[in-house]
Amino acid sequence: MSDVAENLAAIRARIAEAMSRREVDAGAVELIAVSKTFPPELILEAANAGQRVFGESKLQEAEPKISMLLPSQLSWHFIGRVQRNKVRKLISSFQVLHGIDSQRLAAHVDGVAAETGKRPEIFLQVNLSDEVSKGGFKTADLKKEMGSLLLLDHLRILGLMTIPPACGDAEGSRPWFRQLREFRDELEQEWGIQLPSLSMGMSADFEVAVEEGATHVRVGTAVFGNRSHQADGELS
Ligand SMILES: *Cc1c(COP(=O)(O)O)cnc(C)c1O
Repeated sequence: MSDVAENLAAIRARIAEAMSRREVDAGAVELIAVSKTFPPELILEAANAGQRVFGESKLQEAEPKISMLLPSQLSWHFIGRVQRNKVRKLISSFQVLHGIDSQRLAAHVDGVAAETGKRPEIFLQVNLSDEVSKGGFKTADLKKEMGSLLLLDHLRILGLMTIPPACGDAEGSRPWFRQLREFRDELEQEWGIQLPSLSMGMSADFEVAVEEGATHVRVGTAVFGNRSHQADGELS
């Protein structure tokens, strides 16, 4: 087995173990292999090991990789910051956008989707910590704006996404993950809607995220190894 195949097998096993420790019933977990900065050869290795879902955070870097790699057989999630002028291209290459962080951006994506006859899946990114450097809805704003977001019928809102503040250990992320789940529960109740998906957890803390109800974990370095340089356009 290649390193990537071994890493994937180990991560899947760790996800399964974390699911068995869950105290809440939260459904299946999608492992998104975050391939930003890594070459197509490694993505192919992962695909050969059965991985189908990949994450990228820069359109310019992702486009050639996606078109090179049997796009019909793989599913691509955009996990970077969504720029308004790139939305048309983003929704043509990616099935899911994780970084929808304002009502204005959501309305724009909805408009472009309507023009192109698409209905992309999105996550609403929530900024729980009020860190200025991070994008995302403030919870109070999202509570107010949910009604108008639900009217955007060219979007399929899967649920919520968050990136907790960086901290030394996985347990430090737990309160943020729990807070996102509880906030999701609140929104569901208040609006009488379903927001089944929670995108949370990365290489350092995905098991804790799964324990707290993650349905989508975004895992890069634990799959592919260390990135030699940081990708621009990261959300963190
Ligand atoms: C890069 C990135 C990840 C993956 O991070 P790793 O620590 O490599 O697992 C997850 N989510 C987002 C938004 C990212 O930008």
